[in-house]
Amino acid sequence: MRESDILELIQEATDSEVRTVLAALCAESDDTARKASKLLGRLMDAAQAYEERKQPAPPPLHICLNCQKPFAEAENTAQACQYHTGVIVVDSDSEVWEDSDDHQIENSEAMREDFPEGFVWTCCWKVMEEPGCAHGAHRMGGAKKAVAPVESGGETSKKSARYVKAVG
Ligand SMILES: [Zn+2]
Ligand SMILES: [Zn+2]
Repeated sequence: MRESDILELIQEATDSEVRTVLAALCAESDDTARKASKLLGRLMDAAQAYEERKQPAPPPLHICLNCQKPFAEAENTAQACQYHTGVIVVDSDSEVWEDSDDHQIENSEAMREDFPEGFVWTCCWKVMEEPGCAHGAHRMGGAKKAVAPVESGGETSKKSARYVKAVG
């Protein structure tokens, strides 16, 4: 399945459908549960920060598909995002693994949380927590947008408009 297909499905699904699927995915995999919990935490912290700034209405926040940080669409400039283009792999030469057997080192969310310095990016071979080596605009994911996708008909536009009204 192409990434754009699943993103489109997520756009079309209702909030409760997306919640149901997310809960099922998290129950299936501890790795997914940890990632979801991390991203939810970021999103909720960012929303709270907006509320504390007492803006008239907090904007809908998105999680960037590149850097996984929350952002508001209005703040998304061409260079707003700093991210890595590669994937995270175990750095078997890292000092943190000195006392571990190679086969004990699992490339899991739990291990990445506990030993971030033992993982590197394949794009630049920098340690996992180093700032991204590429720049661009934040990439919006499955959150419903005010503007309906070009290829969809009136039904989706109506749905999106309702959503915007409910949120804004
Ligand atoms: Zn990189
Ligand atoms: Zn980003």
